[in-house]
Amino acid sequence: MNRRIISWSIASAVLLAGGVAVMKEGWLDGWKMRLSEMTASPASQYSAPRFRIDLVDQFNYARMAEKTPMLRVDPEMEAWLEREFPQIDTSDLNKVTEQVQNGMPRYYRVSVCSASSPSLRELLQRFHEYAHRAQPEMTHMAVALRPRASGLMHEALLVMGQRLREFTPEALSTSGDEPFFSSCVHCRQPHFMKLSNARRSMALECPKCRRKYAVIAADSAGKFRYVNEFLTGYAPPSVFPKNQSRVQQLFTIWSAVNANCRYANDPGAKAGSSFAKKDQIDSWQFADETQRLQRGDCEDSSIFLADWLMSRGFQVRVALGRYGDLGGHAWCVVKIDDKEYLIESTESRPDPTDPPLASRVGSRYVPEVLFDRFALYVPVSANRAWKGDYWSANTWTRIEPRTELGGDPILTRAPLGAALKPLSKSLLEASATADPSRLARTSFASPASPTFLNLGDIPPGAKDWTQTMMPLRGP
Ligand SMILES: [Zn+2]
Repeated sequence: MNRRIISWSIASAVLLAGGVAVMKEGWLDGWKMRLSEMTASPASQYSAPRFRIDLVDQFNYARMAEKTPMLRVDPEMEAWLEREFPQIDTSDLNKVTEQVQNGMPRYYRVSVCSASSPSLRELLQRFHEYAHRAQPEMTHMAVALRPRASGLMHEALLVMGQRLREFTPEALSTSGDEPFFSSCVHCRQPHFMKLSNARRSMALECPKCRRKYAVIAADSAGKFRYVNEFLTGYAPPSVFPKNQSRVQQLFTIWSAVNANCRYANDPGAKAGSSFAKKDQIDSWQFADETQRLQRGDCEDSSIFLADWLMSRGFQVRVALGRYGDLGGHAWCVVKIDDKEYLIESTESRPDPTDPPLASRVGSRYVPEVLFDRFALYVPVSANRAWKGDYWSANTWTRIEPRTELGGDPILTRAPLGAALKPLSKSLLEASATADPSRLARTSFASPASPTFLNLGDIPPGAKDWTQTMMPLRGP
């Protein structure tokens, strides 16, 4: 008996407190609204699922009228919000935007808005004004509901955000200037990147562990690829004398590449074009292109050489890095019977009596990234000094960018738009853009850059030079 009185007293005290809270917020008829909602016949009852659908519609009708792209419900964010909402303190929405950005790192811009009402129908009305605030850069939304004031009120938290496209070379090829999302393949740190597709080649570097995890370059059609995808399995028709040793075969192919690739610092440039412009037109060539054009710069001839060697079963990697004080450069390393050869695809006459062992000729070469047909290889540590090793897994981490850098199934594309309008007073809302510390660093592997892939090993005073050995063309 006593227990019943106590629980009844607790229940009425809770309801009373809820009622006071509701009154305080100006809902003088809050009780009545809530009561009529609760006692409505099942047919006319306004349910939470219905509220969600109507809310999304309300936003998208407004966006249709303003000709901004439709918002989609992001199931991933909805699940996150459902899980987190019970612990979220909506009195400080700036903090909530921070929580959303930490919890949902794919979101670049985030805007949150919360409102309470005793009635779900009325709650929908409260978001009306916010729905008409054009935020065209936003792509997705999610909403969560929870009871407040002892169940007398509904509180809704709405999150709208710009879900970024996952970085892929293809996405960059077709992008405007919107940021991308990516996760480091080494430390899994999620981050953003802003890339300019006017640049023809670049290395992506994690903002947290500072290690490179992808290198991309544009082909002559302007299409970006992971650099290993420039090795396509090209093997020109050729006849090799029988009984040739592997080293002799290597020299034959090296000489043929040399004879078929005149060094041109900028194969695509027209006469008289400025150096600055060249940065935008130096694209990478496939082996067959280089052979057809009979010219290319250091990475073009290295790709030609490596592709052919790989097709003949050689263990070979293309190295991108620095050569002495000359700056950025590309070369090949070939492994035959545990001996490593450093092959300059741009070098003049290869001398078979003096094989270029990497241990002997390699002192001025500092590789930053290696690649073969299947993978990229980046240093195991950003700080570790390089000790002349091109193959060991203790020095190089293997990355298959196509399989390790995935896509985002939820994502759709939305163009960037105007900045947010001023904050409303009738709703609690806040918005934020991603923290700049999450921005990936890129090093630009272009010939205009002084530190990466710059000049080949060019003889002093020569703009380009031609090989005379073993010409495959007619006299
Ligand atoms: Zn990392």
